[in-house]
Formats: sequence, structure tokens, C-alpha cells
Amino acid sequence: MTNIQLISISSTWMNTLPVTLSLLENHCDDIPNLNFLPYVFHTYKKSILEYMPRQPVDIAGATLYIWNKNRSLKLLKHIKQTNPHCMTIVGAGNAPFYDAEAEYFLRNNPYINFIIHKEGEQPFNQLVKYHKGELDLTQVNAISWIENDKYYRNPLGKFPSLDVPSPYTNQNFLATMQEVDKLGLTRGTVWETNRGCPYSCSFCDWGGLVSQKIRQVPTKRLHEEIDFLVRNMDEVFFGDANFGIFPRDVEIIERVTELYESLDNPRLTVMHTGNAKNTTDRVYKIGQMLTKHNLQRGGVSLSLQTYTDEALANVKRSNIKKETYQELTKKFVADGIAVYTDMIINLPGETFATFLESLETVLEGEVTDIRTFLLEMYPNSAISQQVEEFDIKTKNNLIFKGVVEDENEYTTQVISTYSMNEEEGERLRKFTISLDILHQGKFLYFISKYLKEELGIRYVDFYLDVFENSTGFLKLIQDHVLVMKKFNDGVYNYAKGHIPFDIDWGGGFRKQQYMWTIIAEQSEQFYSDVTDFLQKFNDSKLNDLLQFQKDIMISSDYNPDIGKTSKYEYNWYDYFYNNKPLVQEGHVIKYCDTHIGSLSERIPLKDPSMFMKYASGGRSYFTQRQGSYIHHSIEKLVDLVPT
Ligand code: SF4
Repeated sequence: MTNIQLISISSTWMNTLPVTLSLLENHCDDIPNLNFLPYVFHTYKKSILEYMPRQPVDIAGATLYIWNKNRSLKLLKHIKQTNPHCMTIVGAGNAPFYDAEAEYFLRNNPYINFIIHKEGEQPFNQLVKYHKGELDLTQVNAISWIENDKYYRNPLGKFPSLDVPSPYTNQNFLATMQEVDKLGLTRGTVWETNRGCPYSCSFCDWGGLVSQKIRQVPTKRLHEEIDFLVRNMDEVFFGDANFGIFPRDVEIIERVTELYESLDNPRLTVMHTGNAKNTTDRVYKIGQMLTKHNLQRGGVSLSLQTYTDEALANVKRSNIKKETYQELTKKFVADGIAVYTDMIINLPGETFATFLESLETVLEGEVTDIRTFLLEMYPNSAISQQVEEFDIKTKNNLIFKGVVEDENEYTTQVISTYSMNEEEGERLRKFTISLDILHQGKFLYFISKYLKEELGIRYVDFYLDVFENSTGFLKLIQDHVLVMKKFNDGVYNYAKGHIPFDIDWGGGFRKQQYMWTIIAEQSEQFYSDVTDFLQKFNDSKLNDLLQFQKDIMISSDYNPDIGKTSKYEYNWYDYFYNNKPLVQEGHVIKYCDTHIGSLSERIPLKDPSMFMKYASGGRSYFTQRQGSYIHHSIEKLVDLVPT
């Protein structure tokens, strides 16, 4: 019997059940006398060494990603030390693909025998057969290794069909569900309905990693998997690069929602889709169905990264037209479908000014959520081979703190390129975080919208003015580093210092969420500083608007039993929500929400420590912004009464 230990440690922020390992195991169905040991798929609050297999190991394999590489290699090293004859294999996104890096990796990690390049199922099957003496190494596709101090590499094989048994039927996979339950964590897993991407954005290792041609999992298998996932998983993450690209994708979601609707206690709470870039009708239908059934907390993704021509050309990416993008986002949001857009800072060819232009396009699109990231270098991305060409400089960024230092995990962030220096990149990063809180977090949303519509001031210019020229508390919160240092002892992801509203943050928070609660707690000071800042516009309407802006924010003293009433000189509510011209006719508005949120999970407004936590952006990484921050249940506002 051959004992095989497979390792796929999930991402840093949740324990995703290891479908990849299950697929590898299933692909070895044709090989007798294999004993797959329980999968290692997380290191919840422990050292990876606590997961050392107790039995002898003949073959050990790990999937390497940015979030698990150090821990995975450490475990493989210990397995090899304890089992010197064990054959060790690595594969996946952070297993180097390019020859120079692959050779360097193998020479520096001599306890690793083989790297599998690109898709792993078929080469893994062949390596197991090699181990059993059924094949020689020339018959194993897509691997590299060192032998007698010489580096070897075999060509890629034909990528296999995805017509194989479902990964969710595997006993080792099913056992991981019980393990997560014992830890009291949510069950999440990846679901793949197709594999491959027709695009080749050079910063991404996904399009290149899994090849361009898209292959589909057979529909019959998907139907069985839908049944399993809806009944057994809390969260499902689509592994597809472009869900919505095929007409059948709409039918897949129809089937999911029909089953969800028919069950008394479906386990599923949310599906995270990475949507197709250019197939908007289908993406709309998919978003509509998931939203209707409250299964799409984060929203539909309409990612751009940038609209800057030079940067797009450099990274070999194209986007939909600006006008089409804005039409779509507005249509989605008007129909109650949340939309988020990813943007990348530091793409080569981008400057501070051009990034702001792209950001303005996104802000005009009224998306629910804008997620900005620094460009990261993935070792298997095409751009990783253009570091000199684009004068790319990087730094390590800690993304997971292990129980011992050598189990920390890091990403490689780009801090400057030929077109933007480090100082500008850092300024942009801080600015986008500030904008995230003040605009997406709604503290200044209505003011900026008024200034844009009435005075033609671009959103980005208004916020940049606040970012650079404000004073007092308003100035302090422009710098997340200072805020986290002053209020939370410099810690970014869990509560350590001052805790507004005594919020129980559980496992942690996004710094934007924490900063939102700091501002909410000190809103008097915040809006007093904003009042001073707005004096420069010499516009008497702004005082009235400020009152509306303050009132519409969710606040901890709000009493849902009685609501609250406010009087305004102008018709702000109709102006912003019903597209009416701004007129000076006194209005009284009653805010009478009983819950946070109208589009997704609805949280009762009872305990301020709870509702302020949800108001700050929801409960998961993919923040549930669609119901947060403001009094939101528009239909519950009472009739407008002239004063
Ligand atoms: S970023 Fe998206 S569209 Fe571009 S290659 Fe990667 S998966 Fe494909």
C-alpha cells in the first residue's frame, strides 16, 4: 500500500475545503493500493507541524499559493526528513513555471523532488505510476526536477477532460466538512463549472496557468454538485475565471436558486462569482437571480483594473467601453443588484493622474463597492518576466501571521514602476482608502454628488482636496496608518486598542470597517471639520445639505422604535433619490428603518454594538455594503410634508 499525503492550505481568511486535493485523488482511481491520508487544509491557530502525518508517507504533494507557500514547504521538509524515501511534489500558482525560477526553486529546496507545471491531475497520476514503477520519468508530462545536479523539464501534456467524478463525493473531502464543523467555522468551498480563460492579462497567473481554451464540467455532474452544495456548504466560491461566459451558466444559477427555494433549510448562504467581462446580459440575469434569493452578498463583479490605455496595452488587457460600463453599473444598481469593481494601483504605464481619471469613471458609475489593490507579482504571471522592462520595484507584504515567524505568509507588492514612483503610489493607496471610507462608506457621499452635479467638481478632485487640504480630525483620518496607530495600537486587522461601540469583531476586520466606526463615533467632530472645510465654496445650500448628510447616516443613538424626523430647507431626498431638480421647498423626512440593509441580510437595529458593526460594512471580506451605512429603506420614509 502506498501512503499519500496531500496538502492544500486554504487562504488566510477562511478554511476553504480542498477541492483540488479531492480532484487529484479522484484522478488516481485507476491505480490500485493507494491510501490517501486525511488532507491537510488549514492551520487554524496552530503550527503547521501539528499536522505532521503520524503514518509513514510514500508520496507527499502540496499546492503552493501566495497564502500558504511557507507553511506548505515547511511541512514537506519535515515529511521528507522523517520519511527520507518519500517522493515530494509541488504544484499550483506559486510553484514556479518559468525555467530559471523553477531550477532556482529546486536547487534551493532540495527536499522537493518534482514541480508540476500548470494543471496537476494528469501529471500527478503519472508521478504516482512512476513511483510504483509503472512509468519512467520520460512518460510523465509537465514536470521539472533535478537529477545528478542537472535540471530537467518535460513538456506539457494534453489537458485532460473535466468529465471525471465529482470532487465532492470523495470520502477524504467529506471528512474535511466534519473537521471544519468541529472548529466551529463556516464551510466554504470552491466550485468549478469550467476551466480556462480566453484572455491573457499579464498580471494574472490564472489565464496563463490553466491555459486559454475553456473546458466545461459536464452538466450532469454539475446538477449533482448543485444538490450537494446547496445542502452542505455555507459559502461557495466559483473557481471559474469568467462565470456567465456560457449560456448554460444562467441555467446553472436557475437550478441553484430553484433548489434553494424548495428546501426548508438550505445550508447555502452565499455564492461568490467572478463574472465574465463581456457577457453582460447573462451576468445581469445571474446577478438578478442571486440577489433575489439573497445569495450574493458581495455583488456582481464588473472589474476594470484601469481605463488607462498605456497601462492596458502593457498588461495586454482590454475593457468594455466606459459608457457601456456606466450604463451597466447604473442599471444593475437601480435594479437592486450590487456591483463591485476591482482596480489595480501601480500597473506599468499608470500615473497618479491617469488612475484618478479611471477612478472618476468608476465613481460616476455609482457602483456599490470599489476595491483597489496594489499590483502583486505572481511568480507565474507573464509580467513577472518584465520586471526590468517596466522598472518594477516590489516589497514583501505580510498577509498571514503564523504562530512562529517562519510560518508567516507574504505577497510581493509592486511599489513603483517606470510611470509612477513609490511616493506617488503610496499617496494613491492612502487616498483610495480614504475615499473608500468617505464615499463608499457614505460619510461625504451626498455632498460630493451635489458638488459634482451642481458645480461640476469631479469626485476625485473633491476628495483629493479633502485628502490634502483638510484640518483637524478630518485631516487625521486621511491617513489610515495614523488612525490605526492612534486608535488601535497600530494593528490593522483585529481590535486591540480602542473599540467604538464595544463591537465584538470576532476574528477580525478590514481596517476600513474599523475606521468607519471611529468616524461614526466621533461624527460631531467630523462634521464640524467638514463644515469648516466647505466654507470655501461659499454656498449657503451646503449647510442644509450637511444636515441631510448627517441625518441619513446610521448612528448608534438611532432608536428604531420611534425613528427620527428632520426638517430641511431643500428637497434633498427627491433630488438624490428621485432625480428631481433641487428646489427650496421645506421638507420634513422621517427615517424609520427597523433593520440595516434592504438588499441582503437584514440586521435588526436593536443593539448598537451589533448594528454599528454591520453598518460599517458587513460581516465578511466581501463586505456587504449594499445595505450598510445609511438609512436605506427608502419606501419606509413617510410622506414629504411642506414646512
Ligand atoms: S484577470 Fe481575469 S480575464 Fe484576465 S487573464 Fe486573469 S482570469 Fe482571465
